[in-house]
Amino acid sequence: MKVLLNEQQLANGVRRLADDVKQTYGDQPLTILGVMTGSVMLLADLVRLLAMPLRVGVVQASSYRGGMTPGQLHVDSRLMPDIAGRDVLIIDDIFDTGRTMVKLSELLHSMQPRSVRTAVLLLKDGCQKVEMRPDFVTFNIPDEFVVGYGLDYEDEYRNLPYVGVLEEEDLQRHRLRRQAER
Ligand code: 5GP
Ligand code: MG
Repeated sequence: MKVLLNEQQLANGVRRLADDVKQTYGDQPLTILGVMTGSVMLLADLVRLLAMPLRVGVVQASSYRGGMTPGQLHVDSRLMPDIAGRDVLIIDDIFDTGRTMVKLSELLHSMQPRSVRTAVLLLKDGCQKVEMRPDFVTFNIPDEFVVGYGLDYEDEYRNLPYVGVLEEEDLQRHRLRRQAER
């Protein structure tokens, strides 16, 4: 697999992101909302670097049906905390077309928060199909399908401690293994 961002680069990026978040919110209470499942790593690493009174919640949004082609976007907010009157920061793994973040922001705005901002680990350069941009972008990356540090391909590879690009050999090995499992 081609490594795009190694563990050290990710750790440095998350520290920079935490500094930016501290700059913006100071000591004010904050609600961080992780978009499941891709943001789990970023969520866990980021919140440990923040010291303001913090609430952590999750919301489920899925636009990819396992593989590399997007399906219908589905949002499940049943696990979300009450955000009325609160400053909310939505955290996602990657801003690709941007449609997921737009839809989530609209949904959250309808719940009367004090403010809504967005942060992502990755922004895929040149892929955006919306006007909105995240308030915080940790890394800009080229238009390639990436996995690891929370990001999946067919529900696997989320546990990789780095962000990588699956190459043809990796995909072939993946297919063979999946076939053998059936
Ligand atoms: P958007 O709505 O911005 O097009 O897509 C955002 C969602 O699509 C992300 O939360 C992520 O789940 C998925 N996604 C987009 N690009 C990639 C990618 O390169 N790799 C993986 N694993 N997921 C991606
Ligand atoms: Mg996602």
